[in-house]
Amino acid sequence: MLSLQDNYNQLKSDYESYQKMAEGIIQKQNTKIMELDKKLDMMSLIVEISEYINKYLGSSEIVSMINDIMIGILGVTYSSVYLVQNRKLKLKVSNLKDTSHHYIINDFNEKNSKLAIAVFNDTQNISKDKSIQIHSSIFMPIYLKNTILGAIVVEHNRHNYLTQEHVKLLTALSNHLAICLENNRLYNTIRENSQIDGLTGLYNRSYFFSIMENKFKNSKEEIAIIMIDIDNFKKCNDTFGHQYGDYVLKTISKIIKDNLRKDDIIARYGGEEIIVYMFDMKNIDDIYRRMNYIRKLIEESRISYKSIKSNVTVSMGIGMSKSVDASLEKIIEKADLNLYKAKNLGKNRVIF
Ligand code: GH3
Ligand code: MG
Ligand code: MG
Repeated sequence: MLSLQDNYNQLKSDYESYQKMAEGIIQKQNTKIMELDKKLDMMSLIVEISEYINKYLGSSEIVSMINDIMIGILGVTYSSVYLVQNRKLKLKVSNLKDTSHHYIINDFNEKNSKLAIAVFNDTQNISKDKSIQIHSSIFMPIYLKNTILGAIVVEHNRHNYLTQEHVKLLTALSNHLAICLENNRLYNTIRENSQIDGLTGLYNRSYFFSIMENKFKNSKEEIAIIMIDIDNFKKCNDTFGHQYGDYVLKTISKIIKDNLRKDDIIARYGGEEIIVYMFDMKNIDDIYRRMNYIRKLIEESRISYKSIKSNVTVSMGIGMSKSVDASLEKIIEKADLNLYKAKNLGKNRVIF
C-alpha cells in the first residue's frame, strides 16, 4: 500500500508534468499568436501600400513610389526597380549610382536565364563601387501569372540584415505589385484610347473640347482655330475604295501634325474634318502663312497605297478671337464659315 508521502509525491509529479504540458501549449499558442500578428502586420502593410498606389494610378511616378516604399518599409539602404521592356529588364529607378553588380539581371538580359528569388549575404563588399557598402541583398522577380513584369533588388550595408522573413514580405509585396503595375498599364491604355482617334492617331473631338475648355478657363490669350476638310473625299472613296480613303486621311493627318508645333492641338473633328488650335498666335498673317504652307504640302504629296497613286487637296477656314470674351463656339463657327467660303470659292485654299 502506498504511503501518504508516496501519494503526495505521485500527485506532485503528475501536477508538475501537467503544468509543463500546459506551459508548452501556452508557449506554442503564443508563438502562433505572434506569427498571426506578423501576418496581420504584413497584410495591413500590403493593404496600405495598395491604397497608396491606387491613389496614384496612371501616374508616371508609380515606379519611384514603389522604390521609396521599399526603402521606407523594409529599412533597406538601397532599392532598385527594374521593369521588362522589349523582353529585357530595364532599370527604372534606383538610389544606387552603380548597379553593375546586379549579375542576375545581366544574366537574364544576356542569356535569357530564368529569374528566381535570390538572397545574398557576404562579409565582402558585394558592390564594385568602393564608396558603396553592400553586404546583404534580395533579388525578387515580379511575376504576373507566368509573365515576368520586372524585378526588385533590395540591399543593405549590414551583413545578414536581410533574412527569410524579408523574403516572405517581399514575395507578398511583389505579387501585389504585379497587379498594381498591370492595373497602371491598363489604366494608361484606356486613358490613351479614350483621348486618341484610332485611325488618325490625332486627339478625338471630345478630348479636344476638354483641353480647350481648360485653356479658356486659365488663359486670356487670343485663340486661333483652323478647320480643315478634305476636298471631294467622297469621290476619292468612290474611285479608289474606302481603304485608300482611310490611308489618305491618315497621311494628311500626319502631314498636318508634322508641320505644326508640339503645343498646337490637332484633333479629328468629324469624318474627314480636322480641327487645329494654334497657341500663342497673335498675327493672322502668320497663321495664314503656316496653314497655306501645309495646304501646298498636301497638294504636292503623291499619296500611294498598294498600287493606287493619287493627289488630294484640302480646304481650310481660320477663326480667331478678336476679344478675350469670345466663346469657343463662336470661334469655331467663324472657322467653319470660312471653310464653307473656301469650298464655295473652288476648294484647295485657306480663308480667314
Ligand atoms: P467637299 O469637297 O465638299 O468636302 O466634298 P466631300 O466629298 O469631301 O464631302 P462629303 O461631306 O460629301 O463627303 C465626305 C466623305 O468622307 C463621306 C464619307 O464617306 C467620307 N468619310 C468620312 N469619314 C471617313 C473615314 O474614316 N474613312 C473614309 N475612307 N472615308 C470617310
Ligand atoms: Mg470634304
Ligand atoms: Mg466634310
